[in-house]
Amino acid sequence: MKLLYLLPCVFLTACSSLKPEPLLAAAEPTVTVIGEEVTTTGRYFEFVPTPSILIFSETRNWRHEEGIAGANLAIMKAAKEMGYGYFTTEHSGIFNEKDLARFNVVVFNNMTGDALTPEQEMVFAKWQSKGNGTVLIHGSGDASHQDWDFYHNELLGATFVSHPAAPQFQEARVEVLGPTHPVMAGMPKDFMAIDEWYTFEAPPSDDFIVLAGLDESTYSPLNTVYGDISDLRMGPKTSDHPIIWARCLGDNQARSVYTAMGHRYETYETPEALLILKNTLNWTAKITDPQSLGCAK
Ligand SMILES: [Zn+2]
Repeated sequence: MKLLYLLPCVFLTACSSLKPEPLLAAAEPTVTVIGEEVTTTGRYFEFVPTPSILIFSETRNWRHEEGIAGANLAIMKAAKEMGYGYFTTEHSGIFNEKDLARFNVVVFNNMTGDALTPEQEMVFAKWQSKGNGTVLIHGSGDASHQDWDFYHNELLGATFVSHPAAPQFQEARVEVLGPTHPVMAGMPKDFMAIDEWYTFEAPPSDDFIVLAGLDESTYSPLNTVYGDISDLRMGPKTSDHPIIWARCLGDNQARSVYTAMGHRYETYETPEALLILKNTLNWTAKITDPQSLGCAK
């Protein structure tokens, strides 16, 4: 019996004294790229249907790990269901004319901070002015975007102040204020949702179309934990505290939607958020509402 145990040991000792085989380090590259520089997207778009959605989530400020993951997955699922192509990246190199031209909608999924270079910002504004769609989600509307005037003033249209901190997440009543708007198609007149509720300095200007507002009597709009401003109330009416709004901008009526909802992963598992998301993608891509009735203020 003892011999049976000894034999493998001898074999192992012998093996370990052998020179290790060269593995990956010395492997020959299997692909050689010759010619023009490979762009961010490469050949991907030979296989992607149109309309296509760019989901961009670079963060140079607060990073919403769970919101980014939740929205990315929900948008990808919705896109697949609706026959849209999609591409996700956190690399702002995608904002060049050649790559951006492949998309009909750009979703800023919790993008924070100064993510784009001035040149990339110009490329985006030019692309947007052609009538393409933009969607801004939650953290994409925080206070870290003020260095980009076009984005902050024309697409976001409001300045973030703070959100409750104790507790951070609260259930509140959201009232649909644009019931006939295509983005709110199929929605009930109001619904309850749990989120980190943003407060802004003021509602967006009349250039924007408010689609949903928050009932401040249903949650505690306070932050007594940090910051200079503890009272986060915007007003007693739901229209005083917009939470989702839209805009049509320029000669080509480029459509954009901002929703302040979407901090938590679970947000993107609720039927209300998913319906608003699909309606938003369809409307900003100009698949629905060919007469642009949703642009009327
Ligand atoms: Zn958040």
